[in-house]
Amino acid sequence: MSHSKPSNNAKPLIVRVAVLSPLRRTFDYLVTDEFVAAPPQRGCRVRVSFGKREVIGLVIEQTHKSDFAIDKLKPVVAVIDAEPLLPESLFKLFIWAANYYHHPIGDALFNALPVRLRLGQSLPLPKVTKWWRVTDTGKERGQEMLRGGRLHKQRALLDELSKKSLTRQGNILKFYTRATLQRIEEKGIAELVCIGPQEVDLDNLLLEQPLSLNPSQQEAMDAIDCHGFNTWLIDGVTGSGKTEIYLQCIEKVIRYGRQALVMIPEISLTPQTEKRFRDRFNVEVAMMHSGLTDQERLESWTEAATGQAAILLGTRSAVFTPMKNPGIIIIDEEHDQSYKQQDGFRYSARDLAVIRAKQEKIPIILGSATPSLESLHNCEKKRYQHLILSTRAGDAQPPTWSMVDLKSEQVESGVAASTLNAIREAIHNKQQVLVFLNRRGFAPAMLCHYCGFCAECPNCDARLTVHRRHQRLICHHCNYKRGLLHWCPSCRGDRMVAAGDGTERSEAWLQECFPDTPVLRVDRDTTRKKNAMQAMYDTVDSGAPCILVGTQMLAKGHHFANITLVAVLDADSGLFSPDFRSHERLGQLLTQVAGRSGRGKMAGKVILQSHQPDHPLLEVLTQQSYGEYSTLLRKQRKQAELPPFKQLILVRADAAHAQNAEAFLQSARQCAEAIFPSGETVNYLGPLPALMERRNSRHRYVLQISGGRRSDLNFLLSQLVFELEKLPMARHVRWGVDVDPQEL
Ligand code: ADP
Ligand code: ZN
Repeated sequence: MSHSKPSNNAKPLIVRVAVLSPLRRTFDYLVTDEFVAAPPQRGCRVRVSFGKREVIGLVIEQTHKSDFAIDKLKPVVAVIDAEPLLPESLFKLFIWAANYYHHPIGDALFNALPVRLRLGQSLPLPKVTKWWRVTDTGKERGQEMLRGGRLHKQRALLDELSKKSLTRQGNILKFYTRATLQRIEEKGIAELVCIGPQEVDLDNLLLEQPLSLNPSQQEAMDAIDCHGFNTWLIDGVTGSGKTEIYLQCIEKVIRYGRQALVMIPEISLTPQTEKRFRDRFNVEVAMMHSGLTDQERLESWTEAATGQAAILLGTRSAVFTPMKNPGIIIIDEEHDQSYKQQDGFRYSARDLAVIRAKQEKIPIILGSATPSLESLHNCEKKRYQHLILSTRAGDAQPPTWSMVDLKSEQVESGVAASTLNAIREAIHNKQQVLVFLNRRGFAPAMLCHYCGFCAECPNCDARLTVHRRHQRLICHHCNYKRGLLHWCPSCRGDRMVAAGDGTERSEAWLQECFPDTPVLRVDRDTTRKKNAMQAMYDTVDSGAPCILVGTQMLAKGHHFANITLVAVLDADSGLFSPDFRSHERLGQLLTQVAGRSGRGKMAGKVILQSHQPDHPLLEVLTQQSYGEYSTLLRKQRKQAELPPFKQLILVRADAAHAQNAEAFLQSARQCAEAIFPSGETVNYLGPLPALMERRNSRHRYVLQISGGRRSDLNFLLSQLVFELEKLPMARHVRWGVDVDPQEL
């Protein structure tokens, strides 16, 4: 018997670390004596050397084993966080997502962190908040002291402050100047009372009374259990009062000390939605969207993570924001495709939110007037609870539809003669009009009158759009810009014409027809300017007659009380697209735009201009309902073996040379077929060129993999991605996996 072997108790501690890298693996580092007393836990950031650089990594786990020789491992250079940056539940969500979307965990994690955290900055201290309240003097004599026209700003501020026991300085300074605030402080009307985060004041939680629900809202509300996990789909026509239900559910969860995550599809909707929440609740509302500065992002993140903010309102990426006491998740306009990230880490925020709710054991509500076929399918399969609101809340009536046959009418700048008459009548009756055209710019093409030459983007398979105000031809796919053409580069002819209609042209024409009426264009070009949306709302809220001309930005969720006429200039564009989702999109878009009409007291009208006014799909949509329309589409999808009845995954590849992308996917298919032969359970299609093959000088191809069972596809992909990483050709292409693709 020998007793010479040393005891193995002193095995070195190793951490598995995820770094921002396209590789689907983690990296092992040694925890040296220096850090052993307080080794970095799962979810903490560390600084490590990676190749020739030092990078920030996130610890995935602590271990004593490594596939590499211990003496070859590099040491952790520095430990940044003493406490995990991400709570365990969120960490699990990331791991689930990386597995489900077959995306590198490091890339997934780091892209979700605010930039400043990615760079290693520490969390800000709890924000010092300044709060204001009306003094006793202010309550007794404030109004009197501020009499007179010159002081109307100060009086308005006093009114504002009187609504709440405490008002945050940040919120005051959004609408009033610092000077105004100082003046009323000097007069002893208002005072700065406390500094530091506030607990939610449950006795004064509500700033306005909730509406009393109508019977169908009440039925939905009664069904929703705010304890424990469950998924509800509120399938309610536009204006049916879904938001009121969200607000009342949020109230419940705040009352038992929890937070709400509310997701909306579009950043331009945030001010309106934010206002509705702030008007109702006396709590902190943190915002999370792409319009924030890095510092603002970090602050919102911290407010949600520490529980300071009772409500977190955001777009897609908000699904990855930690919350201290999550209580409910709400996804408004759940059908919207902006919930799916379209490059890099191609996750669906809606689907991840459902997973998150399940892991956090909290309820989730999906809401839409035009639910996705996926969600309707999930209701049918009893995975989601289907709640239907079929009538508008309050007094508003559903709009009536009428068709305009473009074949038999004179059309100018996209507007048919009878449509123009209807607009004239509405304006004459002092009403507001929304004109919808899903093409920004002046005209979608610049053509030569003599030879038919058409100006194309040098980088994409796309025409250049004419932008008249900027005197530019612009590619809407890669943002290539050049001056307008005055001569045809092909035949030297001197008549180049702007062909077709965009919002800019329709706007110009309508302004010409209605010189005394404000015509406001709302699209990506006009709303880039700060406050442009606000200016639009101000005009619309004033109630005076006006004409809005806009793209799908206007179709989403906005609430305009005074619009009575909606004119859709081109209902056909979605009818003939090769994408299998195009009919679903068309139905959603038309129903949503129509829903902007007649939300107030006056009944609304919708005019659809089409070359095919008798198209059976348009008929079902306009004469029946979105419900019938979606049922019809689901039948078609079932027959065609498409999602949601089959699972679909794309392997996407793009390269500077088309043959590289295609050859890579050809090998990918071979690898895949070696794992899972084509046949009963899994089918392959491609490689095929993407719908727009060349974009931004890259040639894009897809390999389509479909199957009846998610588990088969998951198994296949989890093997396949490692094979693909090893292919020599992988170095010449950019490739990625797109699970549940939204576009082909
Ligand atoms: P949705 O979110 O379904 O589009 P909203 O919640 O925005 O609908 O409600 C549409 C309009 O109806 C709003 O002006 C809202 O104030 C009003 N409303 C909602 N619920 C009620 C109710 N129970 N009684 C009266 N008005 C209501
Ligand atoms: Zn281009």
